[in-house]
This record gives sequence, structure tokens and C-alpha cells, in this order.
Amino acid sequence: MGRITLDKVTKSFGATEVIPPLDLTIEDGEFTVFVGPSGCGKSTLLRLIAGLEDVTSGQIRIDGQDATMTPPAKRGLAMVFQSYALYPHMSVRKNIAFPMKMAGIDEAEQNRRIESAAKALNLTDYLERKPGQLSGGQRQRVAIGRAIVREPAAFLFDEPLSNLDAALRVGMRMEISELHKKLATTMIYVTHDQVEAMTMADKIVVLRSGHIEQVGSPLELYHSPRNLFVAGFIGSPK
Ligand code: ADP
Ligand code: MG
Repeated sequence: MGRITLDKVTKSFGATEVIPPLDLTIEDGEFTVFVGPSGCGKSTLLRLIAGLEDVTSGQIRIDGQDATMTPPAKRGLAMVFQSYALYPHMSVRKNIAFPMKMAGIDEAEQNRRIESAAKALNLTDYLERKPGQLSGGQRQRVAIGRAIVREPAAFLFDEPLSNLDAALRVGMRMEISELHKKLATTMIYVTHDQVEAMTMADKIVVLRSGHIEQVGSPLELYHSPRNLFVAGFIGSPK
């Protein structure tokens, strides 16, 4: 399960309200992309969902349960950070095992999940290597592997490919989409890249100055942008 509901959620930093009251529902299994220009609040919104920031007001529900005050580790969500968040001195296997070790999962179960994640991510031959011996794309896959083994209700990605060069980015986009098909788990993916949004999303949430301009499928936004901002951002001819 992985249905996430935001009900009149706001966020202020000091006197500055960066998220005015916002309502949003993300359906179980959906690939939702938050898109919008730099500074529009994409990361803040994702961090609120993850619990890495406290909401100023409003409610966040995960699978119907009020999670507004739930600490990040107990929300059952996995945030995928950029590849540099790996431990350089640990092997790929140990990097992937780390969150399970912290959660007290027994070793047999750890190994089962590692093998299964490695298979899904084509990392089976790299488990004993250190992150420094991997390519950028492989390191990114390890970061995703570390999220998969926690069997989260949803994956949260914040511009995970921004450190990779253009060619690798295209490949990784396809891999993440493939993974979404395989796992059928809710994914929320933040990007300022329209192409990424249009090619990966089931549902796109277009943000501007902390509020939602429009929500819809890539085709809906392309054919029926609500205003010039959305049209300009999505690159449609309106
Ligand atoms: P995006 O990810 O879309 O680029 P952010 O969510 O990072 O945007 O930022 C949205 C707004 O909130 C920006 O104006 C940013 O300066 C502000 N902001 C983000 N985090 C903080 C913080 N910890 N303290 C103060 N202002 C912040
Ligand atoms: Mg950001």
C-alpha cells in the first residue's frame, strides 16, 4: 500500500510561507512527478511527505493513517538520495544491508532482499565492490537498492539524476520506470526537467511558488494546459 494524502498542508520558514494551503492525493502505485522551476517548493514538499520537515499546519495521511507527527523512520517511505550518499568504505552489499541492519532484520532475510534487489537492478556482479569502483549510474542503482530492501510503501526521489551526464540520465530514467513497473510501488519523483516529467509520470503535479498550478497525466497537461505557465513549462503549443 502507498496512498498519500495531503490535507491543507502549509509550510513556513520563519515569516515566509513557502507552501500555501495545499491539497493533494497520490494514489497507491502511481508514479507522480513534482515539476516546476527552481525554488518553487518541490524539495520542501517531498521533505514534508518524508517527515524530514515538520508541516506548519495541515495533515498528512499515509494509507488512511494520520502520519503528520510520525518520525521519518516510521513512515514506511524511502527517500532516495543522490549517489554520493553512499558509504565509501563499505561494499555495495554492506551499503544495501545497512538500513536493514539498523532495523534489526535477521541476516538470512537481509541476504534474500539484497539478492532480489541486486537482481532487479543488475547489480549482482558488483555486490563486493566499493562505491569508488562503480560508475555514476551503478552508484545511483545502489542508492535505489538501499531503498528497495526496506520494502517501503513509497519511494521518494529528489532530482536523483542531476549528478549524471545526459546520456546516463536517459538510461537511468528508463531503469527507474522499469523498476516502477516491476515493483508497482508508489513513487514520487521531483525534477525541474520537463522531459523527465513527460516521459516518466503517470501523474504530473505542476508547482509554482509553492502552489499547484495543475495536476494531470502528461497527455492531459499537453493537450489541455490550464494556463500559459503550464503550457510554457510542459512545452505544449497553447
Ligand atoms: P525546489 O526544490 O523547487 O528548488 P525548495 O523546496 O528547495 O525548492 O525551496 C522552496 C523555497 O523555500 C525557496 O524559496 C527556498 O529558498 C525556501 N527554503 C527551502 N528550505 C529552506 C530552509 N530550510 N529555510 C529557509 N528557507 C528555505
Ligand atoms: Mg529541490
